[in-house]
Amino acid sequence: MIALITGITGQDGYFLSQFLLEKGYDVYGIVRRNSNRRMGNLDLLSEKIKKNIHIYEGDVTDTNFINNTFEKLKPDEVYHLAAQSFVAYSFTNPTFTYDVNIGGTLNVVNAVRDYSNNTRLYFAGTSELYGKVTKSPQNEETPFYPASPYAISKLAGFWTVKVYREAYGLFMSNGILFNHESEVRGPEFVTRKISLGVARIYHGSKEPIELGNLNAVKDWGYAKDYVEGMWKILNYDKPDDFVLGTGESHTVREFVEEAFKVAGIKIHWEGSGLDEKGISDDGRILVKINKEFFRPLDTNPFIADYSKAKKLLNWYPKTSFRDLVKIMVKYDIEHYKKI
Ligand code: NDP
Ligand code: GDP
Repeated sequence: MIALITGITGQDGYFLSQFLLEKGYDVYGIVRRNSNRRMGNLDLLSEKIKKNIHIYEGDVTDTNFINNTFEKLKPDEVYHLAAQSFVAYSFTNPTFTYDVNIGGTLNVVNAVRDYSNNTRLYFAGTSELYGKVTKSPQNEETPFYPASPYAISKLAGFWTVKVYREAYGLFMSNGILFNHESEVRGPEFVTRKISLGVARIYHGSKEPIELGNLNAVKDWGYAKDYVEGMWKILNYDKPDDFVLGTGESHTVREFVEEAFKVAGIKIHWEGSGLDEKGISDDGRILVKINKEFFRPLDTNPFIADYSKAKKLLNWYPKTSFRDLVKIMVKYDIEHYKKI
């Protein structure tokens, strides 16, 4: 079986490539060129694993490249993960976000239709589609209300996949994945920003962690659990749309408290609004608020109802919130390097 992963250098690509290799797949990945020849999270893999991953160098916005890749490879499964995935960046760079997330997705689905119509396609949809949520918990029936250019771009991808499935009878499925994090999450996302900040403070730094909205509520799971769900979605009897999440929600503030707890540091809060601070028992400022990290529009509380995936795919999250925080903080404490 041949699997192609777009976005293989990202967080989910890191876990998915290992998962599929263990299942015996021939794994191919699309990597876009960069000037320092780095391979993102793939560089964290051992040489033994890395040499089993075949790389096509190119960009998902390049129609010729994507067509040629599908014509040549005709993969059994494609996991289309490549995206500009950072919500905050999408507010300042909406055109780029649409080009990659909508244009790139269109290239991939067209290439499947025109050059490889037996390929099963997974599209990386997101809980951000619910945005200003109208109902809780959220499942496949909950109306979408996107609240960022990123969410709009993913809504276009979601509907493109659904329309191509219905119009051309192709095996194309959407995952609607709630936030999933890990020790290889990008450092700009709030969970990794916190775990890296806690590790820095644990190793003696006096610089507080600067954050935005501490009261944002998310449903956070562990990325390794979710890539198994992607595979189960593509190996179900028919193409469909599935929510994957934990069914538990927490605030950014709770994530901070739990992360410092893992490092053996107690934190309490003083002040309010932009003046609020997280302070240690010996009076050090550990967290402060910076308005730069607030969004023009934030989402409402997220909490997943993943009962459809549990029932039809026997998928459920295996890692608790506390274990997720522990995995991330311990990893960053252990791998801490002073820059
Ligand atoms: P990452 O940001 O870690 O990875 C994104 C990947 O896409 C990287 O490999 C990146 O390459 C690649 N990429 C971006 N633009 C292009 C392009 N033009 N051509 C080729 N490759 C490109 O995201 P995650 O792994 O966290 O997420 C995977 C997918 O799932 C994304 O589509 C994301 O939007 C979606 N998603 C993620 C959730 C989460 O909580 N993690 C939740 C729901 C959906 P490079 O290394 O060169 O930047
Ligand atoms: P997202 O859910 O994909 O946007 O993932 P993020 O990790 O970027 O953001 C999760 C939530 O944390 C959002 O509601 C943000 O508003 C909130 N948040 C609070 N402070 C910060 C911060 O400093 N950085 C980021 N990235 N998000 C923050």
